Amino acid sequence: VTFKDLNLIDDLVKNCERLGYKQPTEIQQQSIPYSLQSRDIIGLAQTGSGKTAAFALPVIQLLYDNPSPYFCCVLAPTRELAFQISEQFEALGSNIGLRTATIVGGMDMMTQSIALSKKPHIIVATPGRLQDHLENTKGFSLRNIKFLIMDEADRLLDMDFGPIIDKLLKILPKERTTMLFSATMTTKVAKLQRASLSNPVKVEV
Ligand code: AMP
Repeated sequence: VTFKDLNLIDDLVKNCERLGYKQPTEIQQQSIPYSLQSRDIIGLAQTGSGKTAAFALPVIQLLYDNPSPYFCCVLAPTRELAFQISEQFEALGSNIGLRTATIVGGMDMMTQSIALSKKPHIIVATPGRLQDHLENTKGFSLRNIKFLIMDEADRLLDMDFGPIIDKLLKILPKERTTMLFSATMTTKVAKLQRASLSNPVKVEV
């Protein structure tokens, strides 16, 4: 199986090659054909499985077909992970004009507000700081997002981000594609799955 077999466009196939990806990993093979059709995904996968590219590649391709500001919001449990995710989006989306903002705690609010005002396509955020911007940054809203991705959902919930995520789900458009990735399936993850995904494809590697 090649990246081209997964129906990815040439620009993205080239970017994968440039990054040294020889062929899609198991989670990428199993999920990308579905996410390109905007199906919801529940993915059980560890770090190192290539899960970040599994969600980034289809998001970038659908964005390429139909660009709009605040296209996708990715929730991550830690700052470190958020920056890693942004880096992968930028690497995979280079030459395509992709704009990303990383919105995490412990960094200057004003700098982030300016980044958000430039209407990035992808927002990678830790939940607390994202909520802070939704309440305080003028002109910023997630009412038009097309994709919500929750990465390392088990850790998001262990860190007690559940209530913030519940609040967020209430303001997001119902017409969206949602992907939830977790290393483990816990009771809390199952509950979040029921609250956020509709008729998901389950992928386990
Ligand atoms: P992740 O599981 O998303 O944390 O990815 C782990 C590492 O694998 C990252 O450094 C990616 O750049 C890399 N990677 C992702 N997809 C592939 C692939 N298809 N082939 C080789 N490396 C990959």
